[in-house]
Amino acid sequence: MTPQDVLAELTALADGDVPTHGGATMAYVYDSGLAEVDALAAGAQAAYQWTNALDPTAFPSVARIEDDLVAAASRLLGGGPTTVGTVTSGGTESCLLAVLAARTRWRAAHPDDERRPQLVLPVTAHAAFRKAAHLLDLTVVDVGVDPVTCRVRPADVEQVLSRRTALVVVSAPSYPHGVLDPVPEVAALAAAAGVPCHVDACIGGWLLPHLDSAPFDLSVPGVTSLSVDLHKYGYAPKGVSVLLTNDPEFRQGHWFATAGWPGYPVVNPTLAGTRPAGPMAAAWAVHRWLGTEGYARLAREARAATTALVAGLADVPGVRVVGTPATTLVALAGTDGLDVLHLADEATARGWLLQPQPPFTQPDGTTLPATLHLTVTAATAGRVPALLADLAGAARAALALPPPVPDPGLVSAVAGLDPASLSVADVDGLLDLAGLDGGPLPTRMAPVHALVAALPRPLAERLLAGVLDRVYRPTP
Ligand SMILES: *Cc1c(COP(=O)(O)O)cnc(C)c1O
Repeated sequence: MTPQDVLAELTALADGDVPTHGGATMAYVYDSGLAEVDALAAGAQAAYQWTNALDPTAFPSVARIEDDLVAAASRLLGGGPTTVGTVTSGGTESCLLAVLAARTRWRAAHPDDERRPQLVLPVTAHAAFRKAAHLLDLTVVDVGVDPVTCRVRPADVEQVLSRRTALVVVSAPSYPHGVLDPVPEVAALAAAAGVPCHVDACIGGWLLPHLDSAPFDLSVPGVTSLSVDLHKYGYAPKGVSVLLTNDPEFRQGHWFATAGWPGYPVVNPTLAGTRPAGPMAAAWAVHRWLGTEGYARLAREARAATTALVAGLADVPGVRVVGTPATTLVALAGTDGLDVLHLADEATARGWLLQPQPPFTQPDGTTLPATLHLTVTAATAGRVPALLADLAGAARAALALPPPVPDPGLVSAVAGLDPASLSVADVDGLLDLAGLDGGPLPTRMAPVHALVAALPRPLAERLLAGVLDRVYRPTP
């Protein structure tokens, strides 16, 4: 075999993947629509693919790249003279590290309190914060959002703040509905209670400064840290995000240093040891080439496409937009009996990936409807008329289908099971019963999502892990 043969084989593996370019995959990928950006990123990744970002004293270029990215993010997002930051592998890691730093601060301030610190989360805060609480042993305090605007209400946050609160999170905007939380109001309440406030701008941070946005950044009094992903609207390849804070002490709270072994002295600002420099080099190159003007233009294009999409949706039967999209994210709910899970399947059949989000019951019993999440990028901009036409066809087809009701016998048979007692084989058997026999995933996902939505959350989570367990099985 030649290396070319191997590469051809690898490329062929992606035949079954959703497209990364062209704007029809409206989650997971962010296409600038500019071939130069892709070529530049590839060149930068290649130039740094063997560099180890573990040690910026051996590779001073890494420190320079990270400092430049942090400085750029700080300039864009209201940083000041004391602002410092850390380049991470992605949004999840930025969020984890913010929670870690907050936990460090809380423990230092309450040395005699043996209780778990609390993480105050609007239910719309990204799941990465639930993961952080799980890994770092904090208790999540869920705060419901207004069921119409899907924004958290400051008074609801105020009610749950206490001396146990380690961190409050707000989103700019939230991933599920693309709406902006009232950042200044919540940050002021947090400050008054002596609690740090993190703004999760992972998805919006590189856009909002170029749009006409309400205040949300590090310049807002009470905001103590902010996360922003370069691998989303920074149009960099996967694996690069920035965590900013105005307080150098806060950053120390997520760093790790040890001289407690016979090997090299270890200082890790992030979770990994050895770290790739390729993604950060690519982000640096794309940022250097696009510049503020380039990002502003791409942001305006994607925003204009979003506005056109929202206007055109008025003529698509059976759908409505949830809340007020603050950036380029749109959440669609069903009306007139349309089930958005069917709509997702019908859109898939027409070549579009729209991400299903199940219905959600809030702590106070109100519900947020099932929605489809659409991320609009600059690459979608030229395709809004085609998207609207396909959505109208998909909606008419979905309206003609009966609602995806899971088998009631199956639901009542499994609803009482204790997820902790189920083995991998048990879960496998349940998934067989649910119609996922052996093979990979079914073409229509609506029945699977409907089943998951009908089950108690812990059991649903166990079954979802079971689905992935089947996906990740090496052929012997
Ligand atoms: C994407 C996202 C995250 C998590 O980021 P990953 O890069 O997927 O790890 C966190 N918060 C928000 C608001 C996001 O959109």
